[in-house]
Amino acid sequence: MSSAIDPAKLRALKSWVDVPAGSDFPIQNIPFGIFSANGRAPRPCTRIGDTVVDLHVLCEAGLLTGTDIASEAFQSETLNALIKHGKPAVRRLRERLMDLLSTGNTGMQDQAGLVGRALIPVQDATLHLPVEVGDYTDFYSSREHATNVGIMFRGPENALMPNWLHLPVGYHGRASSIVASGTAIRRPMGQMRPDPQQPPVFGPSKQLDIELETAFITFEGKPLGERITTAEAEDRIFGMVLFNDWSARDIQSWEYVPLGPFLGKNFGSSMSPWVVTLEALEPLRIAGPAQDPEPLPYLRTQGMHSFDIALEAALIPDNGTENVICRTNFKHLYWTMPQQLAHHTVNGCNVRAGDVMASGTISGSSPDSFGSLLELTWRGTKPLKLADGTERKFLHDGDTVVIRGHGQRDGLRIGFGEVRGKILPAG
Ligand code: CA
Repeated sequence: MSSAIDPAKLRALKSWVDVPAGSDFPIQNIPFGIFSANGRAPRPCTRIGDTVVDLHVLCEAGLLTGTDIASEAFQSETLNALIKHGKPAVRRLRERLMDLLSTGNTGMQDQAGLVGRALIPVQDATLHLPVEVGDYTDFYSSREHATNVGIMFRGPENALMPNWLHLPVGYHGRASSIVASGTAIRRPMGQMRPDPQQPPVFGPSKQLDIELETAFITFEGKPLGERITTAEAEDRIFGMVLFNDWSARDIQSWEYVPLGPFLGKNFGSSMSPWVVTLEALEPLRIAGPAQDPEPLPYLRTQGMHSFDIALEAALIPDNGTENVICRTNFKHLYWTMPQQLAHHTVNGCNVRAGDVMASGTISGSSPDSFGSLLELTWRGTKPLKLADGTERKFLHDGDTVVIRGHGQRDGLRIGFGEVRGKILPAG
Protein backbone atom coordinates (compact mmCIF):
# COMPACT_ATOMS: atom_id res chain seq x y z
CA MET A 1 0.00 0.00 0.00
CA SER A 2 1.55 3.31 -0.97
CA SER A 3 0.46 6.92 -0.89
CA ALA A 4 -0.29 6.54 -4.58
CA ILE A 5 -2.98 3.95 -3.82
CA ASP A 6 -5.79 3.97 -6.34
CA PRO A 7 -8.62 6.20 -4.99
CA ALA A 8 -11.30 3.56 -5.65
CA LYS A 9 -9.28 0.92 -3.77
CA LEU A 10 -8.66 3.37 -0.93
CA ARG A 11 -12.39 4.07 -0.60
CA ALA A 12 -13.17 0.34 -0.59
CA LEU A 13 -10.85 -0.42 2.35
CA LYS A 14 -12.68 -1.68 5.44
CA SER A 15 -11.55 -2.49 8.95
CA TRP A 16 -12.33 -5.43 11.22
CA VAL A 17 -12.64 -2.83 14.00
CA ASP A 18 -16.14 -1.32 14.15
CA VAL A 19 -16.38 2.16 12.60
CA PRO A 20 -19.74 3.86 13.24
CA ALA A 21 -21.42 5.50 10.23
CA GLY A 22 -20.37 9.13 9.88
CA SER A 23 -17.18 8.63 11.94
CA ASP A 24 -14.30 11.06 11.38
CA PHE A 25 -11.91 8.13 11.84
CA PRO A 26 -12.36 5.40 9.21
CA ILE A 27 -9.42 3.19 8.25
CA GLN A 28 -8.49 5.79 5.61
CA ASN A 29 -7.66 8.34 8.34
CA ILE A 30 -5.25 6.73 10.87
CA PRO A 31 -4.31 9.91 12.75
CA PHE A 32 -1.71 10.03 15.52
CA GLY A 33 -2.20 11.11 19.11
CA ILE A 34 -1.10 10.58 22.71
CA PHE A 35 -3.34 8.79 25.20
CA SER A 36 -3.18 7.47 28.72
CA ALA A 37 -5.51 5.01 30.39
CA ASN A 38 -5.80 3.02 33.59
CA GLY A 39 -2.28 1.68 34.22
CA ARG A 40 -0.82 3.12 31.03
CA ALA A 41 1.39 6.21 31.02
CA PRO A 42 0.91 8.68 28.13
CA ARG A 43 2.11 7.12 24.85
CA PRO A 44 1.46 7.23 21.09
CA CYS A 45 -1.69 5.80 19.58
CA THR A 46 -3.91 5.94 16.56
CA ARG A 47 -7.68 5.91 16.40
CA ILE A 48 -10.16 3.96 14.34
CA GLY A 49 -13.88 4.60 14.83
CA ASP A 50 -14.32 5.01 18.58
CA THR A 51 -11.31 2.85 19.41
CA VAL A 52 -7.82 3.93 20.44
CA VAL A 53 -4.97 1.66 19.30
CA ASP A 54 -1.92 1.48 21.59
CA LEU A 55 1.16 1.57 19.35
CA HIS A 56 3.51 0.47 22.13
CA VAL A 57 1.56 -2.80 22.43
CA LEU A 58 1.82 -3.37 18.66
CA CYS A 59 5.55 -2.61 18.76
CA GLU A 60 6.11 -5.06 21.66
CA ALA A 61 4.27 -7.72 19.66
CA GLY A 62 6.74 -7.22 16.80
CA LEU A 63 4.08 -5.92 14.40
CA LEU A 64 5.83 -2.62 13.64
CA THR A 65 9.23 -3.95 12.60
CA GLY A 66 10.41 -2.72 9.21
CA THR A 67 8.98 0.76 9.72
CA ASP A 68 12.46 1.85 10.92
CA ILE A 69 10.99 3.64 13.92
CA ALA A 70 12.88 3.07 17.18
CA SER A 71 10.81 1.27 19.84
CA GLU A 72 11.51 4.08 22.33
CA ALA A 73 9.39 6.40 20.18
CA PHE A 74 6.34 4.30 21.09
CA GLN A 75 6.94 4.77 24.83
CA SER A 76 7.38 8.53 24.68
CA GLU A 77 4.76 10.83 26.17
CA THR A 78 4.77 13.03 23.06
CA LEU A 79 4.91 12.33 19.31
CA ASN A 80 8.17 14.30 18.90
CA ALA A 81 10.42 11.22 19.02
CA LEU A 82 8.24 9.50 16.44
CA ILE A 83 8.09 12.40 13.99
CA LYS A 84 11.84 13.02 14.28
CA HIS A 85 12.10 9.91 12.06
CA GLY A 86 10.71 12.01 9.21
CA LYS A 87 8.01 11.63 6.62
CA PRO A 88 9.01 8.37 4.86
CA ALA A 89 9.18 6.43 8.16
CA VAL A 90 5.93 7.88 9.51
CA ARG A 91 4.26 7.12 6.18
CA ARG A 92 5.45 3.49 6.41
CA LEU A 93 4.10 3.27 9.96
CA ARG A 94 0.71 4.63 8.90
CA GLU A 95 0.52 2.21 5.98
CA ARG A 96 1.45 -0.70 8.28
CA LEU A 97 -1.35 0.32 10.66
CA MET A 98 -3.84 0.47 7.77
CA ASP A 99 -2.74 -3.02 6.74
CA LEU A 100 -3.01 -4.46 10.27
CA LEU A 101 -6.46 -2.97 10.79
CA SER A 102 -7.93 -3.94 7.40
CA THR A 103 -10.31 -6.84 6.91
CA GLY A 104 -8.46 -9.84 5.56
CA ASN A 105 -5.24 -9.08 7.42
CA THR A 106 -4.91 -11.67 10.17
CA GLY A 107 -1.62 -10.38 11.64
CA MET A 108 -3.43 -8.79 14.54
CA GLN A 109 -7.12 -9.63 14.53
CA ASP A 110 -6.62 -13.36 15.12
CA GLN A 111 -4.69 -12.77 18.36
CA ALA A 112 -7.46 -12.20 20.90
CA GLY A 113 -5.08 -11.42 23.75
CA LEU A 114 -3.18 -8.87 21.70
CA VAL A 115 -6.40 -7.25 20.44
CA GLY A 116 -7.62 -7.01 24.04
CA ARG A 117 -4.42 -5.24 25.09
CA ALA A 118 -4.04 -2.96 22.07
CA LEU A 119 -7.60 -1.67 21.61
CA ILE A 120 -9.14 0.69 24.16
CA PRO A 121 -12.58 2.35 23.85
CA VAL A 122 -11.92 6.06 23.38
CA GLN A 123 -14.20 6.90 26.32
CA ASP A 124 -11.80 4.99 28.60
CA ALA A 125 -8.76 6.96 27.39
CA THR A 126 -7.48 10.41 28.31
CA LEU A 127 -6.18 12.30 25.27
CA HIS A 128 -3.22 14.60 25.68
CA LEU A 129 -1.43 17.31 23.72
CA PRO A 130 0.04 15.29 20.83
CA VAL A 131 3.41 17.06 20.66
CA GLU A 132 5.68 19.04 22.92
CA VAL A 133 5.49 22.32 21.04
CA GLY A 134 8.90 23.87 20.52
CA ASP A 135 7.86 26.99 18.70
CA TYR A 136 4.45 28.32 17.76
CA THR A 137 3.73 30.70 14.90
CA ASP A 138 0.32 32.13 14.10
CA PHE A 139 -0.38 33.29 10.57
CA TYR A 140 -3.13 35.64 9.41
CA SER A 141 -3.95 33.99 6.10
CA SER A 142 -7.70 34.45 5.65
CA ARG A 143 -8.33 37.38 3.35
CA GLU A 144 -11.93 37.64 4.58
CA HIS A 145 -10.82 37.75 8.24
CA ALA A 146 -8.06 40.30 7.61
CA THR A 147 -10.50 42.42 5.57
CA ASN A 148 -13.24 42.27 8.24
CA VAL A 149 -10.86 43.23 11.03
CA GLY A 150 -9.32 45.93 8.83
CA ILE A 151 -12.73 47.44 8.07
CA MET A 152 -13.62 47.51 11.77
CA PHE A 153 -10.33 49.08 12.87
CA ARG A 154 -9.29 51.21 9.87
CA GLY A 155 -12.30 51.55 7.55
CA PRO A 156 -13.07 49.91 4.18
CA GLU A 157 -10.53 51.94 2.19
CA ASN A 158 -7.55 50.65 4.18
CA ALA A 159 -8.88 47.25 5.20
CA LEU A 160 -5.95 45.18 3.91
CA MET A 161 -2.49 46.45 4.81
CA PRO A 162 -0.17 47.00 1.78
CA ASN A 163 1.90 43.87 2.55
CA TRP A 164 -1.02 41.45 2.94
CA LEU A 165 -1.39 40.27 -0.69
CA HIS A 166 2.40 39.90 -1.05
CA LEU A 167 3.33 37.73 1.95
CA PRO A 168 1.70 35.48 4.55
CA VAL A 169 1.63 37.79 7.57
CA GLY A 170 2.33 36.07 10.90
CA TYR A 171 3.77 36.50 14.40
CA HIS A 172 5.62 34.33 16.90
CA GLY A 173 3.27 33.08 19.60
CA ARG A 174 3.76 31.40 22.96
CA ALA A 175 4.27 27.62 22.96
CA SER A 176 3.99 27.14 26.75
CA SER A 177 0.29 28.03 26.90
CA ILE A 178 -0.91 25.68 24.15
CA VAL A 179 -3.17 23.20 25.93
CA ALA A 180 -4.96 19.95 25.14
CA SER A 181 -8.60 19.91 24.16
CA GLY A 182 -10.81 19.85 27.25
CA THR A 183 -8.51 22.04 29.34
CA ALA A 184 -10.49 24.88 30.93
CA ILE A 185 -9.38 28.43 30.08
CA ARG A 186 -9.36 31.06 32.80
CA ARG A 187 -10.62 34.48 31.74
CA PRO A 188 -7.50 36.63 31.62
CA MET A 189 -6.87 39.72 33.72
CA GLY A 190 -5.11 42.57 32.02
CA GLN A 191 -4.69 46.20 31.16
CA MET A 192 -7.23 47.78 28.79
CA ARG A 193 -8.34 51.19 27.71
CA PRO A 194 -12.09 50.86 27.03
CA ASP A 195 -12.55 54.66 26.91
CA PRO A 196 -9.86 56.36 24.80
CA GLN A 197 -10.56 59.65 26.64
CA GLN A 198 -9.77 58.05 30.01
CA PRO A 199 -6.64 56.44 31.47
CA PRO A 200 -6.21 52.65 31.06
CA VAL A 201 -7.77 50.29 33.60
CA PHE A 202 -6.93 46.85 35.01
CA GLY A 203 -9.44 44.00 35.34
CA PRO A 204 -10.90 40.85 33.78
CA SER A 205 -11.20 40.92 29.99
CA LYS A 206 -14.74 41.81 28.92
CA GLN A 207 -14.16 40.89 25.27
CA LEU A 208 -13.06 37.28 25.42
CA ASP A 209 -13.26 35.69 21.97
CA ILE A 210 -12.46 32.59 19.94
CA GLU A 211 -10.45 32.25 16.77
CA LEU A 212 -11.43 29.25 14.64
CA GLU A 213 -8.19 28.00 13.12
CA THR A 214 -6.34 24.94 11.98
CA ALA A 215 -2.63 24.38 12.54
CA PHE A 216 0.03 22.23 10.97
CA ILE A 217 2.77 20.41 12.85
CA THR A 218 6.22 20.13 11.30
CA PHE A 219 8.70 17.36 10.86
CA GLU A 220 12.36 18.29 11.42
CA GLY A 221 13.14 21.24 9.12
CA LYS A 222 16.58 22.27 7.92
CA PRO A 223 19.57 23.73 9.78
CA LEU A 224 19.59 27.43 10.65
CA GLY A 225 20.53 29.39 7.55
CA GLU A 226 18.79 27.11 5.04
CA ARG A 227 15.37 27.60 3.52
CA ILE A 228 12.54 25.20 2.72
CA THR A 229 11.09 25.86 -0.73
CA THR A 230 7.38 25.66 -1.52
CA ALA A 231 8.13 22.46 -3.49
CA GLU A 232 9.81 20.88 -0.44
CA ALA A 233 7.35 22.14 2.14
CA GLU A 234 4.80 19.31 2.20
CA ASP A 235 7.58 16.79 2.92
CA ARG A 236 8.27 18.76 6.12
CA ILE A 237 4.62 18.80 7.29
CA PHE A 238 3.49 15.95 9.54
CA GLY A 239 -0.21 16.79 9.70
CA MET A 240 -2.96 19.11 10.82
CA VAL A 241 -5.03 19.76 13.94
CA LEU A 242 -7.91 22.04 14.92
CA PHE A 243 -6.88 25.09 16.88
CA ASN A 244 -8.72 27.70 18.98
CA ASP A 245 -6.60 30.80 19.46
CA TRP A 246 -8.55 32.33 22.38
CA SER A 247 -8.22 36.11 22.23
CA ALA A 248 -8.97 38.95 24.65
CA ARG A 249 -9.91 41.75 22.25
CA ASP A 250 -9.84 44.57 24.81
CA ILE A 251 -6.35 43.63 26.03
CA GLN A 252 -5.21 43.03 22.43
CA SER A 253 -6.46 46.32 20.99
CA TRP A 254 -4.68 48.40 23.69
CA GLU A 255 -1.36 46.51 23.73
CA TYR A 256 -0.75 45.50 20.12
CA VAL A 257 0.81 48.70 18.76
CA PRO A 258 3.56 48.56 17.50
CA LEU A 259 4.80 44.98 18.10
CA GLY A 260 1.65 42.87 17.69
CA PRO A 261 -0.20 40.27 19.78
CA PHE A 262 1.08 39.60 23.31
CA LEU A 263 -0.96 39.09 26.52
CA GLY A 264 -4.27 39.23 24.67
CA LYS A 265 -3.31 35.88 23.15
CA ASN A 266 -0.89 33.92 25.33
CA PHE A 267 -3.21 33.00 28.20
CA GLY A 268 -4.25 29.83 26.35
CA SER A 269 -4.60 28.23 22.90
CA SER A 270 -6.42 24.90 22.54
CA MET A 271 -5.34 22.08 20.21
CA SER A 272 -7.30 19.00 19.11
CA PRO A 273 -5.79 15.64 20.09
CA TRP A 274 -5.54 13.90 16.69
CA VAL A 275 -2.91 14.86 14.13
CA VAL A 276 -4.41 14.06 10.73
CA THR A 277 -1.62 13.45 8.21
CA LEU A 278 -1.42 15.11 4.81
CA GLU A 279 -1.64 11.57 3.34
CA ALA A 280 -5.04 11.11 4.99
CA LEU A 281 -6.17 14.50 3.68
CA GLU A 282 -5.11 13.69 0.11
CA PRO A 283 -8.67 12.87 -1.11
CA LEU A 284 -9.75 16.36 0.03
CA ARG A 285 -7.05 18.22 -1.88
CA ILE A 286 -8.23 21.14 -4.03
CA ALA A 287 -6.80 24.36 -5.42
CA GLY A 288 -6.80 27.41 -3.17
CA PRO A 289 -8.16 30.82 -4.22
CA ALA A 290 -6.52 32.51 -7.22
CA GLN A 291 -3.73 34.84 -6.11
CA ASP A 292 -3.58 38.28 -7.63
CA PRO A 293 -1.04 39.86 -7.71
CA GLU A 294 1.15 36.87 -8.47
CA PRO A 295 3.44 36.27 -5.48
CA LEU A 296 7.22 36.66 -5.70
CA PRO A 297 8.96 33.56 -7.13
CA TYR A 298 9.87 32.08 -3.71
CA LEU A 299 6.14 31.93 -2.85
CA ARG A 300 4.94 30.41 -6.11
CA THR A 301 3.64 26.83 -6.13
CA GLN A 302 2.78 24.15 -8.65
CA GLY A 303 -0.34 22.03 -8.30
CA MET A 304 -3.09 22.14 -5.70
CA HIS A 305 -2.29 22.96 -2.09
CA SER A 306 -5.55 23.57 -0.29
CA PHE A 307 -8.05 21.12 1.22
CA ASP A 308 -11.83 21.04 1.34
CA ILE A 309 -12.37 20.81 5.10
CA ALA A 310 -15.70 21.95 6.53
CA LEU A 311 -15.24 23.67 9.89
CA GLU A 312 -17.74 24.78 12.51
CA ALA A 313 -17.73 26.41 15.91
CA ALA A 314 -20.41 25.81 18.54
CA LEU A 315 -21.09 27.69 21.76
CA ILE A 316 -22.63 25.88 24.74
CA PRO A 317 -23.71 28.04 27.69
CA ASP A 318 -23.22 26.57 31.18
CA ASN A 319 -25.74 23.70 31.50
CA GLY A 320 -27.20 24.80 28.17
CA THR A 321 -27.64 23.42 24.69
CA GLU A 322 -25.34 23.73 21.73
CA ASN A 323 -25.55 26.67 19.29
CA VAL A 324 -23.55 26.40 16.06
CA ILE A 325 -22.32 29.98 15.60
CA CYS A 326 -20.07 29.60 12.55
CA ARG A 327 -19.73 27.34 9.51
CA THR A 328 -16.66 27.91 7.37
CA ASN A 329 -14.06 25.98 5.34
CA PHE A 330 -10.27 25.65 5.25
CA LYS A 331 -10.40 26.15 1.46
CA HIS A 332 -11.13 29.87 1.91
CA LEU A 333 -7.57 30.54 3.12
CA TYR A 334 -5.63 32.72 0.68
CA TRP A 335 -2.11 31.59 1.63
CA THR A 336 -1.40 27.85 1.58
CA MET A 337 0.66 25.82 4.05
CA PRO A 338 3.62 25.43 1.64
CA GLN A 339 3.65 29.20 1.15
CA GLN A 340 3.51 29.76 4.91
CA LEU A 341 6.41 27.36 5.55
CA ALA A 342 8.49 28.69 2.64
CA HIS A 343 7.98 32.25 3.83
CA HIS A 344 8.78 31.31 7.44
CA THR A 345 12.15 29.83 6.43
CA VAL A 346 13.10 32.12 3.53
CA ASN A 347 15.42 34.10 5.82
CA GLY A 348 17.08 30.90 7.09
CA CYS A 349 14.89 30.52 10.20
CA ASN A 350 15.01 26.87 11.27
CA VAL A 351 11.94 24.85 12.20
CA ARG A 352 12.04 21.72 14.33
CA ALA A 353 9.98 18.57 14.74
CA GLY A 354 6.86 19.49 16.68
CA ASP A 355 6.64 23.15 15.80
CA VAL A 356 3.09 24.42 15.39
CA MET A 357 2.02 26.85 12.69
CA ALA A 358 -1.57 28.06 12.95
CA SER A 359 -3.55 29.32 9.98
CA GLY A 360 -5.05 32.45 11.44
CA THR A 361 -8.79 32.85 11.90
CA ILE A 362 -10.63 31.19 9.02
CA SER A 363 -13.54 33.29 7.77
CA GLY A 364 -15.58 32.88 4.61
CA SER A 365 -17.46 35.58 2.76
CA SER A 366 -20.93 35.14 4.32
CA PRO A 367 -21.67 36.58 7.80
CA ASP A 368 -22.37 33.13 9.27
CA SER A 369 -18.94 31.91 8.14
CA PHE A 370 -16.88 34.34 10.21
CA GLY A 371 -14.43 32.54 12.53
CA SER A 372 -14.50 34.90 15.53
CA LEU A 373 -17.14 36.61 17.69
CA LEU A 374 -15.43 39.90 16.85
CA GLU A 375 -16.62 39.43 13.28
CA LEU A 376 -19.82 37.45 13.96
CA THR A 377 -21.14 40.25 16.22
CA TRP A 378 -19.32 42.98 14.27
CA ARG A 379 -17.39 44.19 17.33
CA GLY A 380 -20.37 43.64 19.61
CA THR A 381 -22.80 45.77 17.58
CA LYS A 382 -24.84 42.75 16.39
CA PRO A 383 -25.12 40.35 19.34
CA LEU A 384 -25.77 36.68 18.59
CA LYS A 385 -29.07 35.31 19.85
CA LEU A 386 -28.71 31.87 21.43
CA ALA A 387 -31.33 29.11 21.68
CA ASP A 388 -31.82 29.81 25.41
CA GLY A 389 -32.85 33.41 24.68
CA THR A 390 -29.61 34.98 25.91
CA GLU A 391 -27.30 37.07 23.73
CA ARG A 392 -23.55 37.04 23.21
CA LYS A 393 -21.25 39.83 22.13
CA PHE A 394 -18.27 37.97 23.56
CA LEU A 395 -17.87 34.86 25.76
CA HIS A 396 -19.47 34.58 29.21
CA ASP A 397 -17.98 32.65 32.12
CA GLY A 398 -19.14 29.02 31.90
CA ASP A 399 -19.40 29.07 28.10
CA THR A 400 -17.90 26.09 26.30
CA VAL A 401 -16.67 26.41 22.71
CA VAL A 402 -16.27 23.38 20.45
CA ILE A 403 -14.61 23.49 17.03
CA ARG A 404 -15.07 20.56 14.65
CA GLY A 405 -13.73 19.79 11.18
CA HIS A 406 -14.09 17.13 8.51
CA GLY A 407 -14.00 16.68 4.76
CA GLN A 408 -16.04 14.38 2.57
CA ARG A 409 -15.53 13.19 -0.98
CA ASP A 410 -17.17 10.31 -2.86
CA GLY A 411 -18.58 8.87 0.34
CA LEU A 412 -15.25 8.95 2.20
CA ARG A 413 -15.18 11.08 5.34
CA ILE A 414 -11.92 12.17 6.96
CA GLY A 415 -12.21 14.26 10.11
CA PHE A 416 -10.42 15.75 13.07
CA GLY A 417 -12.92 15.19 15.87
CA GLU A 418 -13.07 18.32 17.99
CA VAL A 419 -11.23 20.82 20.14
CA ARG A 420 -13.12 22.00 23.23
CA GLY A 421 -12.60 24.45 26.04
CA LYS A 422 -14.69 26.01 28.82
CA ILE A 423 -14.28 29.52 30.18
CA LEU A 424 -13.66 29.82 33.92
CA PRO A 425 -14.15 33.11 35.81
CA ALA A 426 -11.10 35.35 36.18
CA GLY A 427 -8.99 34.40 39.19
CA1 CA B 1 -4.97 33.85 15.59
